[in-house]
Amino acid sequence: MRLCQFDDGKLGLIEGDMVRDVSAALATLPASAYPFPRHDVLIENLAAVRAEIDALPAVDAMPLSSVRLQSPVRNAGKLVAAPVNYQAHLDEAVADEATFSRAHVRKIQETGLFLKATSSLIGMGSAIEIRHPDRRTDHEIELAVIIGRTGRDISVNRAREYVAGYSIGLDITIRGPEERSLRKSLDTYSVLGPALVTADEIPDPSGLELLLTVDGVVRQRANTRDLIMTVDDLIAFASSFYTLYPGDVLYTGTPEGVGPIMPGETIEASIEKVGAISVAVVAA
Ligand code: MN
Repeated sequence: MRLCQFDDGKLGLIEGDMVRDVSAALATLPASAYPFPRHDVLIENLAAVRAEIDALPAVDAMPLSSVRLQSPVRNAGKLVAAPVNYQAHLDEAVADEATFSRAHVRKIQETGLFLKATSSLIGMGSAIEIRHPDRRTDHEIELAVIIGRTGRDISVNRAREYVAGYSIGLDITIRGPEERSLRKSLDTYSVLGPALVTADEIPDPSGLELLLTVDGVVRQRANTRDLIMTVDDLIAFASSFYTLYPGDVLYTGTPEGVGPIMPGETIEASIEKVGAISVAVVAA
């Protein structure tokens, strides 16, 4: 199932290039009151929502291009991200010391993970707003994993049981010496979309082709089989430091080919079995 969020708080079921409004299924969610849950209640109750969607009377589909897509996760508790997690990207970063701060270019096993601010999260219906045009700002395509269950100290062998689904993530990044959490947390610098593709549609997230173009020019083309730490490794590693909650998003790291983006350009990104997104880049 491919679930999206669109316009103002609507839930959509994507079928090809069409979408059906299945917002009525949200009525199955439990009521909440202050203090509100800090995780995503829709993702937490995904099984019940899916059953409700299946039981809904058929509604007309509309073209996906006619709606404004939001992030498929609206209440992410945290955005966990892997730094350099493809060997070829590590190699290109080591070779370009002028752009990539030496202090930040190490193997992921030494660097660990970092967090991006949840306030940076947008869907593909919003534009990436370049906040500091004097600084080099790069695209990074990444397979994004959406956590479905609460867990800590999750074993590698059972990691997949904690995955609600997958999405395309863009980890937009200012290059420079500051902490990653600062350079990658600007408003609009975490893109997620077009949908949450439920885990049953992608039994194995290794071996997926990734492609990113800027104004039609291929910048990144890679395959998740070349991840240094796999999806399972990353879930186990992250959960050995902090509890993972439904709706937490794990950006699994970008492959080689990162490069600058400028206002006026359009990023198109696709991941095999996950979908495709097109996002505009504008001046803030
Ligand atoms: Mn990244």
